[in-house]
Order: sequence, then structure tokens, then C-alpha cells
Amino acid sequence: MAGLSIQGARKSFGATEVLKGVSIDVADGEFTVIVGPSGCGKSTLLRSVAGLEELTGGSIVIGERDVTSLPPSERGIAMVFQSYALYPHLTVRENMAFGLKIAKAAKTEIDKAVRRAAEILNIETLLDRKPAALSGGQRQRVAIGRAIVRQPQIFLFDEPLSNLDADLRVRMRYEFASLHRQLGTTTLYVTHDQVEAMTLADRIIVLRDGRIEQVGTPRELYERPANIFVAQFLGTPR
Ligand code: ADP
Ligand code: MG
Repeated sequence: MAGLSIQGARKSFGATEVLKGVSIDVADGEFTVIVGPSGCGKSTLLRSVAGLEELTGGSIVIGERDVTSLPPSERGIAMVFQSYALYPHLTVRENMAFGLKIAKAAKTEIDKAVRRAAEILNIETLLDRKPAALSGGQRQRVAIGRAIVRQPQIFLFDEPLSNLDADLRVRMRYEFASLHRQLGTTTLYVTHDQVEAMTLADRIIVLRDGRIEQVGTPRELYERPANIFVAQFLGTPR
């Protein structure tokens, strides 16, 4: 287990600066949620932490390791996206095992990790199916399972529920909470759903136009928003 420290993260695409010096500390085992309007840089920040984008400035430290210049596979991170990106030709079991197989883990170790993740997510009975035979919620579980199997130090979730219908979104919220209780993995979770943020977060970070507006517990932000923007963003339940 390890904490995550992002210091002064900057990212430009051409002349456009998307991240304008973002610093975030996520303590070991903490569930931190990033909220903010569309286009404010949430995905860019997560992709940078994962190593899918190269920062223009700043640093990323996981535990004691500076990972700023490491490739994604060496960062100890697993990321789940809004689109689940499962391999359609592979079974659920094979999808979940994929990362460990690439890392040349032993077969017994892979089987054990897949079984354990399937148990946690209640998808034991789906292991031999292909993604096309699954519902949206089941697919999302498999995508999360694929992340768990790799036993990362850090989970990154980028709007993992936004493709699901409202009922399922609420149910999956509890799944994430339960997952976190069981595994305690340090998590950075992006959403634009205020209720989701309020329910799941130990701490919420409000991002606006590439900068942090406020950081606090859900209660602090709700009761003492730093400005009108935060108040409006978190105060109006959908
Ligand atoms: P969010 O996830 O908060 O909606 P993003 O991080 O996806 O925001 O995008 C932030 C800004 O960066 C947007 O204006 C977007 O158009 C721009 N952007 C993101 N990725 C790229 C890219 N690869 N090339 C150019 N601009 C990008
Ligand atoms: Mg995004």
C-alpha cells in the first residue's frame, strides 16, 4: 500500500494549458474524489498519473517512488475508464487474467487472483462468458475485476459509472464503497455526479479550469464552500 502525491502538475496541449499547477496528496488508503465540470482537466490529470500523458511540469510520487518518468506498467497503478474497453474475443476470465499474463505471472497465481476478484465482485458465474453476453453493470464489474487482479498500489477511476442507468449507478456506488472497505486501496475517483462524490469520498477535490478550487471532506465542502462555484456545484443535487 502507498499514498499518492501529485506536486505542481502542469499539462499543455499545444498552446493550451489544461492543468495549471495541480497539487494533490492522497493518503495511504484514502478515497479521494475529484469533481468538476466537463473539460476542466479531470481525465487529463488521471491519465497523467497513470503515465498515459506526459506532464509538462510537476511530479508524481507513489509511496516513496518518484514515478514521473516511468512507463504506465511500472507505476503500480490500475485505471478503470468510463468505456470499459474489454477484449470482445476473450472470456471474462481471460479479460481479467490479461494483465497478469502479460506480466508473466504463474498460472496458479493468476487463477487465484481471478477467483478472488470474481468473488469480491459477485461475478463467479460469469467467468466463461464473453463481454457481448453481459449487461452494462456486469461489464463494469469485469473492468473493475481486471483492475483488482493486478493488485495495484493505486486505483484510478475515471467516471466509471457514467454509462450506466440511474438505478444501476446507485447500486454500483455501494459496490465501490464495499470494495474500498475490503481492499483499502488508495483511490483517486473522478465523477461529475455530486451525490456520488458525497457518498464515496473521504475527501473531495473541486477542480475548475485546470486549478483546484477547494479541498475538503464532503461535509466541509457542503457546509463551508469556499465560493459560489463550489456551492453551486455541490449544493444542487440532481
Ligand atoms: P474532463 O475530463 O474534466 O472533462 P479533459 O481532461 O478530458 O477534461 O480535457 C480538458 C481539456 O483538455 C479539454 O479542453 C480538452 O479538449 C483538452 N484535451 C484533452 N485531451 C487532449 C488532447 N489529447 N489534445 C488536445 N486537447 C486535449
Ligand atoms: Mg473526462
